[in-house]
Amino acid sequence: MARVYNFSAGPAVLPEEVLRQAASEMLDYDGTGMSVMEMSHRSKPFASIIETAEQDLRDLMQIPDGYQVLFLQGGATQQFAAVPMNLMQNKVADYIVSGSWSKKAFKEAKLYGDARCVASSEDENFSYVPAVDGLQFSPDADYVYICQNETIYGTRYPKLPDTGDIPLVSDVSSMFLSEPMNVSDYGLIYGGVQKNVGPAGVVIVIVRDDLVREDVLPFTPSIMRYSTQVAAKSLSNTPPAYGIYICGLVFKWLKAQGGLAAMKQRNEEKAAILYDHLDQSELFRGTARKEDRSLMNVPFVTGNDELDALFVAEAKSHGIESIKGHRSVGGMRASIYNAMPKEGVEALVAFMKEFEHDHA
Ligand SMILES: *Cc1c(COP(=O)(O)O)cnc(C)c1O
Repeated sequence: MARVYNFSAGPAVLPEEVLRQAASEMLDYDGTGMSVMEMSHRSKPFASIIETAEQDLRDLMQIPDGYQVLFLQGGATQQFAAVPMNLMQNKVADYIVSGSWSKKAFKEAKLYGDARCVASSEDENFSYVPAVDGLQFSPDADYVYICQNETIYGTRYPKLPDTGDIPLVSDVSSMFLSEPMNVSDYGLIYGGVQKNVGPAGVVIVIVRDDLVREDVLPFTPSIMRYSTQVAAKSLSNTPPAYGIYICGLVFKWLKAQGGLAAMKQRNEEKAAILYDHLDQSELFRGTARKEDRSLMNVPFVTGNDELDALFVAEAKSHGIESIKGHRSVGGMRASIYNAMPKEGVEALVAFMKEFEHDHA
């Protein structure tokens, strides 16, 4: 068996220890004689899995009382609709558009009310995060929306907008659990887990109690109402049970690594290895503005499409997989999530040096 260094943006690398544990429990979970996949979601063992997962997540993120944690389906994309459906009581919301994901969310919200773009970085192909200081928000806005780490363009908010009493909603899919966050700065946080937390099929929503409302837009399907899911503890219908179990194992793994402060330190070290190399390379350059660089997703280019394609092709023979950039940026993208070991980033930089030596 040969594991590769998998730089995929998502679904993405998971901790090897977690995969091994899941494998060892595949046929018989904790003496039940069955796999978690085969188990009733109303059974005692599964109740323990989801409750433990929630508690571990609360510990890791230090989620205060007054916030609900939901394990849902439909991906981050379903939340593009669920957020306005549940929160648009005034039918007004302000969006900061810093990339493809917030642009999609903004477009979706326009189906349900008066979604307004208050700042955008599309003028420079989303290579930076719009300035948040001095932004004017609509006084009657139900919420202000951001995508805090842009998976495709490799940017991350260096600071949050000050929205006053207006709830801040953040899509954290590609930075979830990569660093500590102050949950009480937000009204709602959500993320699809397949970027940094678990297998595809689960989206985690952390929502402040006052935003779990009954007066949602009238056509909101019951299943998409936060109130339904809160009342049912995420078990309104069959949840993505196996995915929740793997997320739970990842939470335990994160705790064993020292928690989110330790992850942040490791992620900063890993990102620095790659960015330092990009900054002194004569062949490669990063595409995101320095102040706004993501710790998780690192797009870079040579400026020559043929060389980029050759790099991606040759990387494979060095055990470097899924390094091709997203089509909207081109070139390469290294996603260096929690489970990417430092050795993986070092192997990438070593290959970049070799490639540069041969092709510069
Ligand atoms: C991948 C991604 C999404 C879309 O996630 P799905 O689970 O495929 O719906 C949304 N937002 C961000 C920031 C992402 O990285």
